[in-house]
Amino acid sequence: MLANKQRVKIINVVGARPNFIKIAPIMDEMKKYPEHLEAILVHTGQHYDDAMSKAFFEDLEIPRPAMDLNIGSDSHAQQTAKIMIEFEKVLVEEKPDLVLVVGDVNSTLACSITSAKLLIPVAHVEAGLRSFDRTMPEEINRVVTDSISSYLFTTCEDANENLRREGIPDEKIFFVGNVMIDSLLRHREKARKSEILEKLNLSINSQAKPYALLTLHRPSNVDDGETFKSILEALERISQDIPIIFPAHPRTQKQIDSFGLSDHFKDFTNNESQITNHGIHLLAPLPYLDFLHLMANAKFVLTDSGGIQEETTVLGVPCLTLRENTERPVTVTEGTNIVVGTEPKRIINEGMSILRGGGKKGKTPRLWDGQAARRIVDILMKAAKEGR
Ligand code: UDP
Repeated sequence: MLANKQRVKIINVVGARPNFIKIAPIMDEMKKYPEHLEAILVHTGQHYDDAMSKAFFEDLEIPRPAMDLNIGSDSHAQQTAKIMIEFEKVLVEEKPDLVLVVGDVNSTLACSITSAKLLIPVAHVEAGLRSFDRTMPEEINRVVTDSISSYLFTTCEDANENLRREGIPDEKIFFVGNVMIDSLLRHREKARKSEILEKLNLSINSQAKPYALLTLHRPSNVDDGETFKSILEALERISQDIPIIFPAHPRTQKQIDSFGLSDHFKDFTNNESQITNHGIHLLAPLPYLDFLHLMANAKFVLTDSGGIQEETTVLGVPCLTLRENTERPVTVTEGTNIVVGTEPKRIINEGMSILRGGGKKGKTPRLWDGQAARRIVDILMKAAKEGR
């Protein structure tokens, strides 16, 4: 597996927004061992614009990638194939001892397949999560990546179980905690200094005015006009009682335009200087620290994101997940998350229940303690030392 060498070379791969948040603490940790570990960061360019990429390198102080493959957006097959072609060249040139991938995006899949075919061991951070819904592109990426990885780093016990059920031997599974929560805990204080509440006029005499926070970008929710409209119906009803702040993902923004849905939103960026008491207020995607501050102060969060279900659990903020299932069930069994689906009635009922004083309380899952990256790097260093 990992070569028994004095100094191992590891390529860390990032491609899309959630990857940056996960890689930041790992890069930080790897920097501590320059004589034993050379860490190279490769950005596939799956997300490339300032709001979805550059802003995160700045907020999270991630070193500039040594290589940027500049792949950009495309269909699943085109994007995955282009990443594989370019990443193979990097592997041939750099000959790393290990490739580390995070999460479940196309870059995760493409780089793990390319490495495994060149017999370079793969470490997958956030392994074993399963929604058991193969219509989700991320589920395919998760299953395939796990099946060809040599080191599977998991965030929770149910992920360990999923991997065992799929026949992955115990010695490849390492329950280390959650690197996304490492980032959250490291940046929580800094995020408190964000001025986003004041910018959005949500702060009155330093008291945060109540609002709900929304993110939405899963293809199953925004690529089908009828589903998108049905979710919007619920959001509009909720937004009569509490303003909803909506930093929209670029794919969602595109779908709002193509389905002609912009009348349903108040465009904060262009027309309005004030978040009023009602309405869904559309914003560009926010940098990490601003978003974290908004999330921590929200009355509740509505989302179809994976990572945000985990972050709200740690922040103790109620979360309504606008999907039929979740690959992160620990956020439901232990945390503040409720999976509400996409039917308007249920979404409205759960939203109103929170406004009436409800909202789930929860606890932080085991090992979500800010130490996951340290555990990962310790395990890899030990494996390199022992040549396994
Ligand atoms: N996020 C952010 N700004 C935003 C929306 C999300 O910084 O405007 C962060 C969020 O806190 C979380 C990550 O981006 O850390 C989640 O990314 P996304 O929802 O795109 O991916 P998923 O978790 O669904 O894979």
